[in-house]
Amino acid sequence: MEKREKLYEGKAKILYATDDKDQVIQYFKDDATAGNGKKKGTVEEKGIMNNGISAKVFEYLQANGVPTHFVSKLSDREMLVKKVEIVKVEVIIRNRAAGSLCRNYGVEEGKTLSCPILEFCYKEDKYNDPLMNEYHIKALGIATEKEIEKIKEITFKVNELMKKFFLALKIELIDFKLEFGRYKGEIILADEMSPDTCRLWEVGTGVRLDKDRFRNDLGNIKEGYQEVLKRVTGK
Ligand code: UDP
Repeated sequence: MEKREKLYEGKAKILYATDDKDQVIQYFKDDATAGNGKKKGTVEEKGIMNNGISAKVFEYLQANGVPTHFVSKLSDREMLVKKVEIVKVEVIIRNRAAGSLCRNYGVEEGKTLSCPILEFCYKEDKYNDPLMNEYHIKALGIATEKEIEKIKEITFKVNELMKKFFLALKIELIDFKLEFGRYKGEIILADEMSPDTCRLWEVGTGVRLDKDRFRNDLGNIKEGYQEVLKRVTGK
């Protein structure tokens, strides 16, 4: 697979074209941001760890019938993925209260929710990724009703699968964010699933193994990601 020009550079990843028009290379950087880019830094080897974790997660999801953009892991920091047209919504599931749910609704951190909360946010940094609902998505032409239904179906399935996956590793999936894309007319899971995009608490101790270590200056950021990688890959 030949790597060609840079197509897009985001906050944590770069996309490169390949000689196949339907596939791109997703390169994971060490850059870390929080609060919509207000806090910036780097976490040594984060790109390597997130690529490793995401590849394992996508393999597991794919094996369990979830359509994803993942094709193969190419190197430490690169994976080959299907080239999708990104749907401009971030889809969040919350199993326990954390982050913006606590800030916006006055809920105590760690409160168990009686059912998972699904949130949509408009994926647009310049407007601060505002919360939106299905009417916004449909009325603004961001996705069709059928696509929204598919996105919700996949998201809840990912929640059930990933809760089980992490629990077997003594990790609780508190919340996470997914992104979807269109590929040959179908909705598939895209982007990444890693400690950058999930809140992961160690079972029993509540130790944070995710980007909250960076967001909240908890220290040992790299160690948190490394612990997740170690458990996920069994190494
Ligand atoms: N999240 C993400 N990217 C975003 C916003 C949120 O990956 O742009 C993830 C975040 O890591 C967490 C979940 O989505 O696992 C819920 O995030 P929340 O809304 O609490 O975000 P906060 O403002 O606290 O970072």
